[in-house]
Amino acid sequence: MSNLVKLIAVDLDGTLLNEENRISKKNLEAIEFAQANGVEVVIATGRAHFDVQTIFKETGLNPWIIGANGATIHQPNGELFHSVAINQQDAFHILNWLEQEEYYYEIFSNQSIFSPQNGRELLAIEMDRVKSANPEVSMEQLREAAEKQYSQSGFSFISSCKELIGNDVDVYNILAFSFEKEKLQKGKEQFKDMKDVTLVTSAKHNFELEHKMASKGIALEILAKKLEIKLADTAAVGDSFNDLSMLRIAGRSAAMGNAPQEIKNSCQGVTLTNIDDGVAHFIYSLLK
Ligand code: CA
Repeated sequence: MSNLVKLIAVDLDGTLLNEENRISKKNLEAIEFAQANGVEVVIATGRAHFDVQTIFKETGLNPWIIGANGATIHQPNGELFHSVAINQQDAFHILNWLEQEEYYYEIFSNQSIFSPQNGRELLAIEMDRVKSANPEVSMEQLREAAEKQYSQSGFSFISSCKELIGNDVDVYNILAFSFEKEKLQKGKEQFKDMKDVTLVTSAKHNFELEHKMASKGIALEILAKKLEIKLADTAAVGDSFNDLSMLRIAGRSAAMGNAPQEIKNSCQGVTLTNIDDGVAHFIYSLLK
């Protein structure tokens, strides 16, 4: 029996999703094939679980979901199984600072994704400033990046984070977004040495803050234990630095063909790109 793999963790953006941010038919069939063979599949992403549930709605599949880079684990029936939130004092300290500095931000919580009411205006003002300081920068690219940010589902708008005080909000992830390099740098400096909070960068224009115990790797370990599956019998595939923790602990690992070299070097193998159904290719290589 070479078929040892019992749990496969799959990153979403740049991995399962193609260049149109969709799951291809081949990738979908491969996941169905794995599940039909008794293999559990978990989507492991930086996105909030609401967003993942929306993406999967039309597919008919209900996978396990590791959301917010490992801060949450949701069961196939949609119920929360595990979570690790930023403590409230830290969360409000961070949010107050971001509001003072006029950041566009998103708070992934147990209730919703909260974002400032004036978020679009804040980013429009930044785009104007970037444009006058750097006329060579492509405004089209900035607009696309902003639209991608707004396109997630599960948003609620707030005029201030103070609205959330006393509301039993568990904050899993705070994403700060800016087009201005110095502004981003200042934010990273501000929060890089917090005791219980870790800072990660998942894309060019942002940084994210989470509890130190939130990572895709720790979440995969917790889920494997729950499912009574040995880590040696797990597999993981991803394309980015927030995937490293799970790629390192999984029994089998593959980097996407579109991943940076450093990620490829940390994996046992390299599969095809997200445009060429790299996930399906990896799943079939594990199960055939
Ligand atoms: Ca990714």
